[in-house]
Amino acid sequence: AISSRWIVRLAPRSLVCNTGIRIMSSQSPFIRDKAYIGGKWVAATNGGTFEVKNPATGEHLGVVPDMTESDAVFAIKTANEAFQSWKSTLARERTLLLRRLDQLMHEHKDSLAKLISLEMGKPIKEAKGEIMYAASMLEWFAEESRRIYGDVIAAPTKSKRLVVIKQPLGVASLITPWNFPCAMITRKAAAALAAGCTVVVKPSEDTPYSALALAQLTEEAGFPAGVFNVITSSRSNAAALGHVMCTHPMSASISFTGSTEVGKILMREAAEGIKRVALELGGHAPFIVFESADIDAAVVGAMMAKFRNCGQACVGANRFLIHSSIYDKFCSKLADAMKSQLVIGDSMDESVTIGPLINERAVEKVEKHIKDAVDNGASIVVGGDRNSRGNNYINPTLLRDVKPSMLMCQEETFGPVAPLIKFDTEEEAVSIANDTRSGLAGYFYTTNLLQAWRVAEALECGLVGINEGLVSTVESPFQGFKESGIGSEASKYGIEEYLEKKTICFGGL
Ligand code: NAD
Repeated sequence: AISSRWIVRLAPRSLVCNTGIRIMSSQSPFIRDKAYIGGKWVAATNGGTFEVKNPATGEHLGVVPDMTESDAVFAIKTANEAFQSWKSTLARERTLLLRRLDQLMHEHKDSLAKLISLEMGKPIKEAKGEIMYAASMLEWFAEESRRIYGDVIAAPTKSKRLVVIKQPLGVASLITPWNFPCAMITRKAAAALAAGCTVVVKPSEDTPYSALALAQLTEEAGFPAGVFNVITSSRSNAAALGHVMCTHPMSASISFTGSTEVGKILMREAAEGIKRVALELGGHAPFIVFESADIDAAVVGAMMAKFRNCGQACVGANRFLIHSSIYDKFCSKLADAMKSQLVIGDSMDESVTIGPLINERAVEKVEKHIKDAVDNGASIVVGGDRNSRGNNYINPTLLRDVKPSMLMCQEETFGPVAPLIKFDTEEEAVSIANDTRSGLAGYFYTTNLLQAWRVAEALECGLVGINEGLVSTVESPFQGFKESGIGSEASKYGIEEYLEKKTICFGGL
């Protein structure tokens, strides 16, 4: 049963773990070297570790456990044990714990943001924004916990009554990416915990510290041991952990955010045990500017939709479709905005807007896409090369005369590159926009009311921004069409991923 710990208010800045050891690091009080299972800070059973580096400097940040199958099995069994009492806690108890966690995230906002910047290079101002977005999930689902409703249904005979109730699924296995290392965890975990599920989180090998910081805060908030668990592994052990999370009989569901390629592997594995699957996968968002658009507003939206997180966002605009009558004007205004507004530099500097890419592999992919476009007739308007800071810095790039057949229009670039494609008719723009297996976000600018409805309905994607470059909020559902995913996160729908419906037929009346 839930202990009275959850009503005890701990000193807000206490960073003392349950073993009584104060965590010390010159770079962040949240950097630690153990995973978190059953309320204990644990090493990998085989003693393995892997290194975590700062992508901006290449600097060593620390090591964390490189866990294997047996650790994942132990975490799932532990979470299942905790589920036996967590599932029957009062909704209000879960509400209070989630609120307390939300409050702790606000109190530690600056340290948590710094941690994100250290492990993935996100500019500090954006990292603070991510912490606020991540915390908003806790606040939202704290309330949703008390709004899990069922149904009373008209029975087919007089002797029966029909009722539908909702119950938590069990252990929710969560696998998350590096690009929003904190928010992609809370968007899942807050809903799961609110529903009455316990969770096992496997964060990206690039960003384990944000997940471990969240574990530390759940402990401080007073969540019972085993309700929130974090297992860490290197890339080479990720598939083994993923296999256990998808197939172990005590893992009730798998929720994954990451690449479409890995999502497909996990879905196949989950099929074996008919697990509940939720997938938030890659995107390839079109950004269309029609002839009636307010061009200045479209440039503001484009800057937001493209350069946030250095172009490493699943909802980031990847293909800019510009009407031929305004193509040159839009191109020169976007070039001016890029040159005057984007500041490359040290992620810890509040004025910096462009940090490094996550690793060398990401830089090489961006370079390959730019080369392919240029080799096939596109021209570089801004950037196009690596920044002199070295490491993983690439200059924000604007390309014109891009064709839909080029590599960067066929696959997610995941970098600060804006390719401009020319179109003449609405039908042509919609057809190019939908000509992809992805369907996460889509944006367009127009002042034509009827066109706004037509195009919003015609775009094959789960999120549409009309005259708007930022579409994710906690209040509205986040989901992909086609190969961008299955299921919704955030909003009133998010909690459904972690609930089962049960029909109760009461007879003999
Ligand atoms: P990734 O698929 O490489 O890795 C995601 C996670 O899966 C990591 O934790 C990784 O360790 C793990 N993983 C890798 N191989 C695995 C395997 N075989 N089995 C089990 N787990 C495995 O993705 P990434 O590079 O971390 O993130 C970038 C991708 O995520 C982009 O495609 C982006 O569009 C997508 N993304 C989607 C959303 C969304 O909500 N739709 C949000 C953020 C990122």
